[in-house]
Amino acid sequence: MQTQTLERMESEVRTYSRSFPVVFNKALNARLTDEDGREYIDFLAGAGTLNYGHNNPHIKQAMVDYLASDGIIHGLDFWTVAKRDYLETLEEVILKPRGLDYKIHLPGPTGTNAVEAAIRLARVAKGRHNIVSFTNGFHGVTMGALAVTGNSKFREATGGVPTLGGTFMPFDGYMGEHADTLDYFEKLLGDKSGGLDTPAAVIVETVQGEGGINVSSIEWLQRLEKICRAHDILLIVDDIQAGCGRTGKFFSFEHAGITPDIVTNSKSLSGLGLPFAHVLMRPELDKWKPGQYNGTFRGFNLAFVTATAAMRKYWSDDTFERDVQRKGRIVEERFQKLARLISEKGNPASERGRGLMRGIDVGSGELADRITGRAFENGLVIETSGQAGEVVKCLCPLTITDEDLLEGLDILERSIVEVLN
Ligand SMILES: *Cc1c(COP(=O)(O)O)cnc(C)c1O
Repeated sequence: MQTQTLERMESEVRTYSRSFPVVFNKALNARLTDEDGREYIDFLAGAGTLNYGHNNPHIKQAMVDYLASDGIIHGLDFWTVAKRDYLETLEEVILKPRGLDYKIHLPGPTGTNAVEAAIRLARVAKGRHNIVSFTNGFHGVTMGALAVTGNSKFREATGGVPTLGGTFMPFDGYMGEHADTLDYFEKLLGDKSGGLDTPAAVIVETVQGEGGINVSSIEWLQRLEKICRAHDILLIVDDIQAGCGRTGKFFSFEHAGITPDIVTNSKSLSGLGLPFAHVLMRPELDKWKPGQYNGTFRGFNLAFVTATAAMRKYWSDDTFERDVQRKGRIVEERFQKLARLISEKGNPASERGRGLMRGIDVGSGELADRITGRAFENGLVIETSGQAGEVVKCLCPLTITDEDLLEGLDILERSIVEVLN
């Protein structure tokens, strides 16, 4: 495989090509093929961007048809037929059946664009600057999103420019199993000398993806919503990674029956891996003045088309979400077994997750790297997350076949056995 040009010309900032140093060429559903023709099962799926698999034939066909018909590809934020279809489908297939009423802001096409827009809207709407986020939260790497992102690796890369406007609270479980971390937040809110500037909003991932597949409990989320309501604080759910079916529901917050004021989606939103993001907001929060938050790529028409196809195909009834939950249980059971196996070899390990967003905490980044490195040699693309990269995570396509899912799990098990023996 020719990698010289790639190594010479691409900035040192590259990451995933260090873990998987081959040249990929093709992909279909949960299988990647490198240029030598070797196949890999994909348990990374674009870090949760390919929930419907690589080159999903149904979604891709909608794009091919649209291209062939000379449909508008770029139109700033013009009204287009593709945009209207997208909004209508979002309302009919996703929002109405869930009793949700949101207006939609189409910012630039990445997750961090949506987070920037969401927190800025909260500030404009509430006239307050502070945004509360949580330990180990990840919300993107532009300055605003960075201020609510826990991981210091990213924040150190500003060249010393301080990231402002965020305050961190302990996420569920951060202080151990028996502490309810919201006691601390609620106490600060009621204390004029607690030092906390009353926040405009709280931003939270219901399951922290990059932070290590940390799952907040249903009760914790419900209490968080109550606290926000009681103190006139907006609740933003960053569903960029956990949304679009990853946890077994379209929105990850559906499990808790809560209604965020603002929601961000990106990653799998386009359905095909195209860059695309939106912000959902309660209608009365739409305090934007025309053009106050702009951008050249506001709503990508090709992504409107593919996202519409994905919603129609997978979310018109509950067949798909029940299948995701079923596969989630398969991964959960196997991960529990693997965690026991790792523990028995003297490395305390545990399993966690919701739906098909699951991980095994193996206790050290070094061991996790050895496992994922060996897995790659054995034909499985799988990554780590968590503050020290100690969690081996499964983010396989939700559309993965049972055969590929089981084969991927078998490869992971074999790799763990090989590493530990
Ligand atoms: C990936 C991610 C982001 C950032 O999205 P980008 O497209 O990388 O900017 C924000 N929030 C969460 C929860 C994410 O997983």
